[in-house]
Amino acid sequence: MTTPAPEDIAIRRLPFESPTRDLMAGASRHEVRLHEHGMIALVDVMPRVVPEGQTADAAIVQAARVSYGAGTKHVQEDRGLIRFLMRHRHTSPFEMVEFKFHVAMPIFVARQWIRHRTANVNEYSGRYSVMPDRFYRPRPDQVCAQSKANRQGRGEPVDIGTAEQFLVYLEQAEAVYGEYERLLDQGVSRELARIALPLSVYTEWYWKCDLHNIFHFLGLRLHPDAQAEIRLYAAAMYALIQPIAPLACEAFDDYHLHAMHLSRLEIEALRSGRPLQSTNEREQAEWHAKAETLGVEPPG
Ligand SMILES: Cc1cc2nc3c(=O)[nH]c(=O)nc-3n(C[C@H](O)[C@H](O)[C@H](O)COP(=O)(O)OP(=O)(O)OC[C@H]3O[C@@H](n4cnc5c(N)ncnc54)[C@H](O)[C@@H]3O)c2cc1C
Repeated sequence: MTTPAPEDIAIRRLPFESPTRDLMAGASRHEVRLHEHGMIALVDVMPRVVPEGQTADAAIVQAARVSYGAGTKHVQEDRGLIRFLMRHRHTSPFEMVEFKFHVAMPIFVARQWIRHRTANVNEYSGRYSVMPDRFYRPRPDQVCAQSKANRQGRGEPVDIGTAEQFLVYLEQAEAVYGEYERLLDQGVSRELARIALPLSVYTEWYWKCDLHNIFHFLGLRLHPDAQAEIRLYAAAMYALIQPIAPLACEAFDDYHLHAMHLSRLEIEALRSGRPLQSTNEREQAEWHAKAETLGVEPPG
């Protein structure tokens, strides 16, 4: 039997059964500007066209109903079903919703972001094109000392004199751009000329990811332990997707973002009223933080 050619295949194009709406309200992008040169814009979403009165949550419910069939009869309501799926980590229906963003961020933010491997990415090429003269600079009050509690993070703002010295140091690094341009003019290839540019220079990409993996990204990058600069992008991303899939975002808020995981040792400490059975300082500190959130006095 021969394989039919595309033009020989009959395609039925069926209309929606009821009036529809565009989830981006006819806009080409929903954009958030961040600091001087940063930006994150939602440029597309799947599904984009949904029946009037619905949101992208409909695609999650549709997928769940096909996989659970009659088993979902007892969970009639969409919100209840989505919350059930989120609580029980039935993740694949959330993968049916996708978001595409256009992002401009400093390279040190991009390096953290690119670690999220489940997205599709196309980045500006410094081999093809000249890197634009745009650099990230924090405000003086955002220049902070090394954190005492977290080896990776930052703590309180440094004194103004030190902050100013830090900004001079950035200015000196940015001054390399003049040399970059000069060497390009002298014929050095773009792929080589760029290698001395600082991590504060901006790059851009299109980044497409499904909602399940966006929630994973947001869980990590909205966390107070994440670097402030990427947290800002994560917060803007969350604000952009919330109106598109409000029920899924509400469930993510309730069961992940503002929820807490208790270890077996922590549950035992809570039930028995005895100290946490661990000599690990970090684990003890985390347990104390959780007990404070729960409003209980950590035993011992
Ligand atoms: C606060 C913070 C500090 C960090 N510090 C460091 C650091 O010091 N050094 C460093 O190198 N990284 C660091 N990271 C990066 C971190 O280790 C992860 O690489 C990053 O957060 C991406 O997480 P992920 O792999 O879960 O996400 P994704 O790549 O988005 O993957 C999502 C999920 O898909 C699955 N998955 C994806 N790819 C594979 C695969 N190939 N095999 C199996 N499962 C897969 C996993 O379940 C994974 O959790 C840090 C991250 C944070 C948030």
